[in-house]
Amino acid sequence: MGAQVLGKVTQATDGPRGPDVEHRIQVAREWLEEGASIEFELPRNLSCAVCGGGGCDACDRAGAISTRGRRELPELVQVKLPVRNDEGPPSSGPRSLVIRVPAHGGLAAEGSDLPRGNLLLRIKVADEADPGITRLSDLTPVPAPPAHAPRVGLPAWIKLLAVAVVLYVLVLIFLRLSGRG
Ligand SMILES: [Zn+2]
Repeated sequence: MGAQVLGKVTQATDGPRGPDVEHRIQVAREWLEEGASIEFELPRNLSCAVCGGGGCDACDRAGAISTRGRRELPELVQVKLPVRNDEGPPSSGPRSLVIRVPAHGGLAAEGSDLPRGNLLLRIKVADEADPGITRLSDLTPVPAPPAHAPRVGLPAWIKLLAVAVVLYVLVLIFLRLSGRG
């Protein structure tokens, strides 16, 4: 049910969880204008979102937070960019924005079943995207079902007539061959 799913998302975003991390990426301006979907590899260690790397209680003064275990494979994160709102003077468009991605942040303390923290994705708009960022091909629109071909079939009575004629000819041939024609 929708309400339950919403509740889950809220919990994953704001409830008890692992530490939040931040990651800065750069995307091409057109991607934002078109609301593109992107994919990138999440670094294993990212800055603590609370202190920005300076060290605080959330990160045990380390400044950096792990998003996966040492032996786990790199994680690919997919995000759909919000379409940039281009109202107002052309130069006033946002140069950067932040997307909050639940459950892609830091690991919770070992032994706890808390979800991972949030990933705060700080997106900077530039002429070119970071090399590590891939634009996913936009979802291809579902191909329209083939147009209903106009029925070219013959009317049923013609088919029946054809079958009758063929049978008649076969009978004639049979009679002829058997010498009774
Ligand atoms: Zn910190």
